[in-house]
Amino acid sequence: MFEAARGFQFCEPTIFERGVPGRNGLSIAPLDVPEVDSRALFGALLREKQAALPEVSEPDVVRHFVRLSQQNFSIDTQFYPLGSCTMKFNPKVNEWAARLSGFAHLHPYMPEPMWQGGLEVMFRLEQLLAEIVGLDAVSLQPAAGAQGELTGLMMIRAYHHAHGRSPKKVLIPDTAHGTNPASCTFNGLVAVPFASGADGIVHPEQLVSLIDDDTAAIMLTNPNTLGLFERHLPQIAELVHGKGGLVYGDGANLNALLGRARPGDMGVDVMQFNLHKTFTTPHGGGGPGCGPVAFKKALEPFRPIPVVRKTENRYALDTNCPKSVGRVRSFYGNFGMMVRAYAYIREMGAEGLKAATDLAVLNANYVRVSLGADYPPAFDALCMHEVIVSDKALQKETGIKTLDIAKRLIDYGFHPPTVYFPLVVAGAMMIEPTETESKETIDQFVAAMQAIAREARETPEKLHEAPNITRIGRIDEARAARKPRLRWSPNAQG
Ligand SMILES: *Cc1c(COP(=O)(O)O)cnc(C)c1O
Repeated sequence: MFEAARGFQFCEPTIFERGVPGRNGLSIAPLDVPEVDSRALFGALLREKQAALPEVSEPDVVRHFVRLSQQNFSIDTQFYPLGSCTMKFNPKVNEWAARLSGFAHLHPYMPEPMWQGGLEVMFRLEQLLAEIVGLDAVSLQPAAGAQGELTGLMMIRAYHHAHGRSPKKVLIPDTAHGTNPASCTFNGLVAVPFASGADGIVHPEQLVSLIDDDTAAIMLTNPNTLGLFERHLPQIAELVHGKGGLVYGDGANLNALLGRARPGDMGVDVMQFNLHKTFTTPHGGGGPGCGPVAFKKALEPFRPIPVVRKTENRYALDTNCPKSVGRVRSFYGNFGMMVRAYAYIREMGAEGLKAATDLAVLNANYVRVSLGADYPPAFDALCMHEVIVSDKALQKETGIKTLDIAKRLIDYGFHPPTVYFPLVVAGAMMIEPTETESKETIDQFVAAMQAIAREARETPEKLHEAPNITRIGRIDEARAARKPRLRWSPNAQG
């Protein structure tokens, strides 16, 4: 019926295809109470047909899900230099903390006196995050970075309305993450893209003619998605503030700043954190995220509800905030992620966070220099926590594509870096090693990249077919997204 395995690479059908009628994984004790007439109990609601559930044994279920889990690539199995995503190792002590029964078994409808500890963790985490970025207050509610952006922009809009204005334009450099313009549009604002300077960063002179009374905000990522520090941010903020606009900081790259620089000190008014990136909560499998927003006092009245307040020795949730943008997430946000981030920050301490940033920047620059001969950096400058290299010259010389290199890396056992982003760099490969990788691991990655460059010159056909030793070969990604085939078939590739 189906191939059982290829070595130890299991070819797993869907669990529905595994079932056999009548098989099950339960043994239920014989009934020792009077049987209930289910028709009398449920009436018209009684289900006539059996639910089409897979009928499988307990080992079937366990193997199915363990096998699927083994098809995952994760930071726990290998180096994962996916730029912009900060795939750092997530310390297991975070998992211990989040699983403590006092946290894990909280119910969102519990009365406040029963979960004072949970509220205290939220309150303390807000304070720590505010201090790390030099802003006045934090709301932990948004469920991801993108939702944090949206929330911040909602607050900016509410702020302008409260001042009797409704400016519409949000200036966004062409290097920005796609979620930036999307969040603007979603919030009824107009994204105005502009080109960053030839050196990859934004210069105040460029903006003078763009900023006017209709400018609601500028949205900047610092360091930007080219891995470069936006060193003119304070002057840019002054220009925007001068016309009544605000500065939104995309905080996804905070891993480059911890303990070294604070967005609030650079003129940022509101920003989001990506706790799942910078503060080590597992991500990458589409699991929950947490994208708190930090903001200056002037924006506080517009923050989402509920607000965690401390009064004497009690913590309470406040929903009486008439100017608030409202709820952006059910209940209190993704609480488990907050516990993990809190555990991480307390474990690291101020010195540890600063060391993490220093090492992240050192590792990225080590990659930049080590790869330079085959894959020159897009900008010949010190980078921050990630480096954008280009294979443009290699493409011209050998005819291979960036995607070929990325796919071939899989044969070498590495997750490919982010490719074709940022859009402004031809042949972009965005590599973010993070601070948690050893020199040995980074050296292996560099050796693999160099081996691929040699292959590109000597046996380019090998690269067009990669990956060659994976369970599934190269797929048509556009078709896989538009016409997903969810049924396993014995004739299908892989
Ligand atoms: C990851 C990222 C985002 C979006 O964050 P999510 O948590 O994935 O929604 C926004 N901007 C930048 C620069 C990012 O790297």
